[in-house]
Amino acid sequence: MTTRADERLERAFDKRTATALGKLGLATVGDLLGHYPRRYADPGALSDIAALQVGEHVTILARVEQATVRPMRNRKGALMEVVVTDGKSRLSLTFFGKHRGSLYNHEKRLVPGAKGLFTGTVGLYRGTRQLTHPDFTLMGEESDLDSDEALLEHATKPIPIYPAAAGIPSWKIQGALRVVLDTLTDDDVPDPVPDEVGQRQGLPARAAALRSLHRPATLEEAYRARHRMRFEEAFVLQAALAQRRARTAAEDATARPPLPAGKPSLLADFDASLPFVLTDGQREVGEEIAAELASPRPMHRLLQGEVGSGKTVVALRAMLQVVDAGGQAALLAPTEVLAAQHARTLRALLGRLADAGTLFGAERTGASTRVALLTGSLGAKARKEALLQAASGEAGIVVGTHALLSEQVQFADLGLVVVDEQHRFGVEQRDALRAKGRVSPHLLVMTATPIPRTVAMTVFGDLETSSLTEVPAGRAGITTVAVPAGNTRWTDRTWARVREEVDAGRRAYVVCARIHPDEETKTAAKDFDDVPEFLDQAGPGAEGAERPPLRAVLEVVEELRSRPELAGIEIGVLHGQMPPDQKESAMSRFASGEAPVLVSTTVVEVGVDVPEATAMVIFDADRFGISQLHQLRGRVGRGTDPGLCLLVSDAEPGTPAFARLEAMTQTTDGFKLANLDLELRSEGDVLGAAQSGRTSSLRLLRVVKDAGLIEEARTAAVDVVRASPDLTEFPELAKAIRAQLDEDQEEFLERA
Ligand code: ADP
Ligand code: MG
Repeated sequence: MTTRADERLERAFDKRTATALGKLGLATVGDLLGHYPRRYADPGALSDIAALQVGEHVTILARVEQATVRPMRNRKGALMEVVVTDGKSRLSLTFFGKHRGSLYNHEKRLVPGAKGLFTGTVGLYRGTRQLTHPDFTLMGEESDLDSDEALLEHATKPIPIYPAAAGIPSWKIQGALRVVLDTLTDDDVPDPVPDEVGQRQGLPARAAALRSLHRPATLEEAYRARHRMRFEEAFVLQAALAQRRARTAAEDATARPPLPAGKPSLLADFDASLPFVLTDGQREVGEEIAAELASPRPMHRLLQGEVGSGKTVVALRAMLQVVDAGGQAALLAPTEVLAAQHARTLRALLGRLADAGTLFGAERTGASTRVALLTGSLGAKARKEALLQAASGEAGIVVGTHALLSEQVQFADLGLVVVDEQHRFGVEQRDALRAKGRVSPHLLVMTATPIPRTVAMTVFGDLETSSLTEVPAGRAGITTVAVPAGNTRWTDRTWARVREEVDAGRRAYVVCARIHPDEETKTAAKDFDDVPEFLDQAGPGAEGAERPPLRAVLEVVEELRSRPELAGIEIGVLHGQMPPDQKESAMSRFASGEAPVLVSTTVVEVGVDVPEATAMVIFDADRFGISQLHQLRGRVGRGTDPGLCLLVSDAEPGTPAFARLEAMTQTTDGFKLANLDLELRSEGDVLGAAQSGRTSSLRLLRVVKDAGLIEEARTAAVDVVRASPDLTEFPELAKAIRAQLDEDQEEFLERA
């Protein structure tokens, strides 16, 4: 059944408005209704100029204090400068014209005392924030502000401020919504939340909530409506996850119980050969996994653990249990470098248990198994061999990247899939690989990105989770220091420290944000539609113009090779654009100590394990997120020697960027950092960072603050799915879930 919400915007509005709204990704009336206000301007007080951030697209409510027009000094044209105030702070607005006359209209309208809404991207010019060519609406001027009634509405009611874009400022969105809302009925916007649930939760009807959200009489009303929409988001998501869990629970899997004690087995031999004792956490999680593998229902488990907490050993023990039981295990890594390293690590851990010879299918003695590596860059012959080993079952363990997902890869009897560093894999990829077994293989997903519980519940809600919280004893810890980029005394000392580490037989990573020095640095989108052509891009408002460019791998490696402190030290390079064999050799030359300093991009971020690496220098550290810095830092201090991490940046004290670096210097606790990260980011980023491809439809839900609400929604959703597993009794819910999956899939395809 189609409803008003499905109506295309081209039909509801004139072409220009529809096109402009389209730029915000809005195609239907339903989309428009779902474009929620970012916040509400309090009509009494003017909005806060003091809090504007450079690069932000903003709308402010302000009054003109002064306006001047003058000819440009060095070029043709005229410049109009307007100073506006919100009562506390001032902001300057700049307009350019080909000549004075072209600014005449602005001059006439922007007179001192004029009050209105101004929209633009905050830029920086000579250290002062400003808006260049903002759009504006003045009170008493625009069509919808010319009646007493409209003015009154503006003057007494909260003003919804929408995420806007060039060409479609906030108040135009508001106007478009007014048109739709005026005639909106309950039937126009079907409710995915079943009536019983809504009533039990005390939620207003959907149409009423939308009206309150977009046109509230009071802030309280708006917040009540927002709560309702949040619940709906959480509920739809949790219902989808509950369905998924229910489906999985009904799937069959092959039970892979451990061999009885006393019988020869790879797992027993492996345990006996381990040079260290398992931590308590490793043992407990291991038992949990062992029990699940022994069940005829597929395991779906997320294993999270600090970098260096020893997840690989846990995974390998699970794989060996499966191999002992006659099955195969696949290990999926996010990059070729990591896959190759995993294969190496597994072979090294297995020692004599990783054998080249034993044929699967012959009488199993538990003596050994083969670890095959299958990546996209293998030569034809090696590839054929690896494929054969996977298909024949000769390889008990197959390690690879996405290439393992390709249809040509067959397994004799795939019993367990281990995915390392989950955040690089989408739900769909997990499914593709699982579909390779005759019945569902067991699934173990590992991540070192600490995931707060509610995020896990939201994003990975179809997986059970276990955590390794302790790091094996005997690690000496990491010291982290923030180094100001411009200070030569500090930078000299940095390289002297790197030298000391190398002289002591250790290794150092140097990480840069980009590869080539002449690569474009990312600048904020510019909004120069009205600016005459003679103004070049670096003109006023060009964000980032005052920042030095990001350091690049190829430039830094040259610099380091000529630094006296590092004389005589071989310096390697590693980045994503190198062919796989060169990457391989760079890694192994670093690992062996032949080239003990490695300048690289963030390719070393995940999983790379060189125990002798003790130092890491990260350039432009303020450009990385906390969790990424945490991942990077986890590459050092993995052995018994203390680690050192130097965060080089020109972040100014007092900025959020500086706060992030400061947090990094104060703790190495990944969970603390993850929570801090959440506080410092906006919610959208949080879900984006979880990178699972099922996040696009969450608009209002705040995964940390809304923990209680998510729990409630989950309980309600589980009940509903239990009552009607295929949701035939709740068609609107089923439709909402389908719409969400489509959206996720789209997003996933775009990213892939
Ligand atoms: P991660 O969880 O980051 O994947 P790894 O599995 O790579 O961690 O383990 C990091 C290092 O710690 C490896 O060199 C591994 O051999 C070692 N290790 C694992 N478990 C233990 C343990 N119980 N005692 C001592 N060292 C261990
Ligand atoms: Mg690992």
